Amino acid sequence: MVNPVARLLVVPLILISTMWSVAIWPFENVRLEEPACPRGVGHGFWDMRWIEDDSKEPADTEAQKLLRNPNFGATSDAAGDLKAGIVDGRLISTLQTISKEHSICVQTFKEGHRFLPGVEDGPTIPEGYGEAGGLPNTHYFGRATDIYWVDGEPVEGNGTDPAVLDVGRMLAKIPQGRRPNQIIGPPDWTKRLGYGFERGWITAQDQLRLHKDHLHIGYREKTGTSNTQ
Ligand SMILES: [Zn+2]
Repeated sequence: MVNPVARLLVVPLILISTMWSVAIWPFENVRLEEPACPRGVGHGFWDMRWIEDDSKEPADTEAQKLLRNPNFGATSDAAGDLKAGIVDGRLISTLQTISKEHSICVQTFKEGHRFLPGVEDGPTIPEGYGEAGGLPNTHYFGRATDIYWVDGEPVEGNGTDPAVLDVGRMLAKIPQGRRPNQIIGPPDWTKRLGYGFERGWITAQDQLRLHKDHLHIGYREKTGTSNTQ
């Protein structure tokens, strides 16, 4: 015989579960987590812009495919740039290539990027950012991104971690005409990989010191690259 208390509970439980299913139904296409990003970083459930925009835009652009890739994570700013169509197609393709093998979390493309704390970014790199002041700011033109986490671990302190090194090797394998030519990472990462300018790496010491905690991947030119290997 069924326990009368249990019988009393069955109907309310069915009701509650049905109501909950209906309540979360509109969010079925929203990822509840950002698996490629650490907890608290990402453009997931609580970012209402993400939900609103989703219903208005076609879901088949390369940027949308990248956003749906569970191996790719992005902050709200970075996801917004992808959805706004300002990210260079070559860069999207490169991120798709890397995220076939590794989970990566991107902090910025254009929106929210700052070379110097409190200094608004513009078309050129501000004076005071190593020796690079005055050069074109590839972030500003949607041609660069900063990766702060690989396979769930921060880039900072993990420059010689096999996964972070493998991201570098995957970049090096991209055909030279499509490979980024502004690849900058932590000093130990750069030294261990041993790639140089001809493959798209920046090895200037001032820049390595400024990239101890992330991988910067960019395209210096609007079309084509200067890679010779
Ligand atoms: Zn950068």
